Order: sequence, then structure tokens, then C-alpha cells
Amino acid sequence: MAENKELMDKLISLCKRRGLIFQSSEIYGGVSGFWDYGPLGVELKRNVKEAWWRDMVTAHDDTTPPTGAPSPYAMVGLDCSIIMHPQVWKVSGHYDLFHDMLVDCRTCKARFRADHLKTSECPHKPSKHPGEHDTCDLTEPREFNLMFKTNLGALVDPSSVAYLRPETAQGIFANFRNVLDSTRVRLPFGIGQIGKSFRNEITPRYYTFRSREFEQMEIEFFCRPAESREWYAYWRGRRFAWYTSLGLQSDKLRLRDHSPDELSHYSCGTADIEYRFPFLPEGEFGELEGIAHRGDFDLRSHMEGKLVRQGDGFAVERDSEGNVRYPGSGKGLRYFDDQSREQFIPHAVEPSAGADRATLAFLCEAYTEDKVPDDKGVPQPRVVMKLHPRLAPIKAAVLPLVKRDGMPEIARECYRELKQSWNTFYDESGSVGRRYRRQDESGTPFCITVDNQTLSDGTVTVRDRDTTQQERVASRDLVTFIAAKLRQ
Ligand code: ATP
Repeated sequence: MAENKELMDKLISLCKRRGLIFQSSEIYGGVSGFWDYGPLGVELKRNVKEAWWRDMVTAHDDTTPPTGAPSPYAMVGLDCSIIMHPQVWKVSGHYDLFHDMLVDCRTCKARFRADHLKTSECPHKPSKHPGEHDTCDLTEPREFNLMFKTNLGALVDPSSVAYLRPETAQGIFANFRNVLDSTRVRLPFGIGQIGKSFRNEITPRYYTFRSREFEQMEIEFFCRPAESREWYAYWRGRRFAWYTSLGLQSDKLRLRDHSPDELSHYSCGTADIEYRFPFLPEGEFGELEGIAHRGDFDLRSHMEGKLVRQGDGFAVERDSEGNVRYPGSGKGLRYFDDQSREQFIPHAVEPSAGADRATLAFLCEAYTEDKVPDDKGVPQPRVVMKLHPRLAPIKAAVLPLVKRDGMPEIARECYRELKQSWNTFYDESGSVGRRYRRQDESGTPFCITVDNQTLSDGTVTVRDRDTTQQERVASRDLVTFIAAKLRQ
């Protein structure tokens, strides 16, 4: 545990030092639950989102079933607004149900999540859990809605209240008809979306893990009800494999099925993909993504109105006078199946991932300390971020060995050539060993050095970040060489 804490402290300090993650508004003392991604961090997070978008949406082959899929399917994307009609959140259940139970301490005025008391710290010293000091005076748990409220337009009254979306998924359901009418997709098909979400978390913590502003990468996958369980099984496996393909080791990653009492009110099955983050207590895992079988709950709600459980099924919620409590849109969100000539509400499977949590997991996994020989062959400790090359913020760095003899000119030519395809860095200052270390800490998979031999035979060295092995490559072949390496 102490080791893990130390590792996390080192990672956080590296993220600050190398420009990956900064506290938001740091010059004013920071604001809890908000983070900024620095020059390297923005590249890393964009690469995470780009890998997701490409693997899930644009590179998806609509004509052939991927391994494990019951049939071929189509994928399209959306980018919806952050503020939606407030009725969306009343109908979806977020207005009534999206809350955490919070506990206040009347003595120190600190606020805790009721279900986190055993892992939270009372601000009073010595360090104890809330409620464990003689002076602690905790309130009973109370409900606290996590949606951020705002007002639309100049008038600040109840009629202008709107909410920042706490998830991107509702925008997909609200556009289901538009997508069907504007594209040629037929069941089964998925709609993907990446975007910001906001939750007024009571206790933001664990670095970026629990933030108040974060990004989600969500898919709603629509299918025929009879096939929905098979699709749910497919997406569980497909999404797990995505993380391993980008370097998360499977012993720190797990797929955990929710027990029946953990399932949300609408869900027929949910599994979480979880990662053993170093900041969590020993043996605990943190959620990276939830994959939920949501049945027809959402589309039906947006048609008929907010649903509540009734027996084994759901019914529209009514007030004491029998009126629908939160009416839906009344729009037809059924699907007409040309094959069976039937009309029905498709079922949805929802893989819902967090871009910031995935980025944090990739960072934790990548952090490595090892020893490599210096110029004299003496082993020296180094820190290296072993990020998957697809995720690495900088793909290649070009370094002239010295700042004379025409080496910088050749190096700049290589740099300009590589820069056309990838984020490439040029560095001519300091010893080459120091320049390698800087790139190792930034996770750059390839360092290209122009040296004396380059002047005579036109070859450069390409150094592999993880093995530190170097090979000589003709500078005119660099682009093809790096492209092949990045594809591996
Ligand atoms: P948790 O139980 O950790 O609060 P959740 O079950 O409420 O998460 P979902 O509603 O399933 O989370 O959201 C889907 C994904 O969005 C999560 O798996 C996570 O990656 C991300 N996410 C949710 N809340 C946050 C947050 N406060 N900060 C960063 N990412 C988040």
C-alpha cells in the first residue's frame, strides 16, 4: 500500500513536470474536481479518444461480423449538445434518481458520501475516518442530486432551469429517430459519441478518477429484443479486449458482473471493466467502463414518459390524480422491421467508458522504473512511460548528435518529413543521453539520431524506448520504417 502511494506520488509529479495533467486554476489555489491536460496530456487523451473512435466507429467494417459478433452490424457517430431539454432528464430518471447519499459533519463542516465513510478521511488530525473522532457529529444521510444546474437566457426562475448533461447517452436516445431517418442503418447498429459530462460529485478524489467534469465515450447499440443477450455478451468481450489491445495487463484489469441487487432498475445485466489503480486500497478495483443491457427502457421512456418498476416489468409513473408524472416526447421511436414486417422498440446495449479514467489507467500501467547503461556502460536508473505507441503523445523525436557538421540540417529534414504523418519532436539541446531520458519520460517510442555515420552513408539510428536497442536505417526510409513499427 505504501509502495502504491509512493508510485502514485511519483506519477502525479511526472504528470506535472512533463506537462500531462495540471490542477485546474492552479494559480488561484485550484478548484476541486477539475483538471487541465497540458501539452503532452492533451495529445495522450486525444489519442485515447481517437483510438476508441477509430476502433469502434470509423474503422468498423459494416459488412463482416467482428470476432465473436452474432452478425455484421453498422456503426455511426453523433456529437450532441451538453445542455438538452430539461424534460430529457425528468424522463430518463436523472432528475429524481441521480443522487448520492451525503453525510455532513456539524463540527468540521466537511461533507462525505455515505457509502465512502470507511475510505474517507476526517480533516481533523490524527488521521481517522469520519465519525471516529470524539468530536465528530455526523448528520443522517441525505439525498444530493449530482446534476449541475444552470439557467437559460436572462431570466433566472424555475422556468429557465436547465442541466449540464451527466452522461452523453441520452443525446443518442433523443436522436434515435433522426439517425434512422437520415442514414440507411438498419438493426443491428450502434451509435457512438464522445463528449464532456458533468457531475457535481460530493467528494471528487483519486486525482482525475472522480472529477466533476470529465469525458465519456459511449455507445448505444440497438438490436432485436430476441438477440439482445447475445449482443450484450459480445460487447462485454469486445470492450475488455480493447483495453488489453492498448496495453492494460489483464491481471490488473477485470470484467466483473454485477450481482442482481447491484443492477440498476432498468438493467437485465451489467458488467464493469475495472482496473486495479495504485491509489485504491489493497485489493480494490476502480470502474473504467460499464456495459449495460438496458432493454427498451430508454427509448420507451422517451416515447411514453418516465417509467417505474411494476411487478416484473415497467409502467409509466403517474401522480395521485393518475396523470403521467413526466411525459415523454410522444414521438414514434419504434422500429419497423422490413424482414418480419413487425414494429417494436429495439433493445439497447450500452458500453459506457470514461476517457479520463482510461487515460489514467494507461498512465498508471505505463509508469516504469528500470536501469539502462550510460555512455560508459554503467547502469543508471531511469523512468520510462511504456505507453502503447498508438497512445504515445509524441511518436518520434529527432536528435542531432551535435549542433555542428551539418547534423542539425539533416535532422531538421527528417523531422519535417516525419511531422507530416505524426507528432514529432526536434531536440538539439543537452547531451544525447539527457535527451533520451526526457523522451523516455514522455513515452516517445522512437528516438532518431543523426550522427557522424549519417554524414558518410545517409543512415540514422532509431532507438527503441523500451529495449533501448538501436538500429541503423537509411534516412530516406524513415517514414516507412516508423509506419511499420507503429502498425505492429
Ligand atoms: P462510479 O460508480 O465510479 O461513480 P458510475 O457507475 O456512476 O461510476 P457510469 O454512470 O456508469 O459511472 O459512467 C460511465 C463511465 O463514465 C464510468 O465507467 C467512468 O469511466 C466515467 N465516469 C463516471 N463518473 C465519473 C467521474 N466523476 N469522473 C471521471 N469519470 C467518470
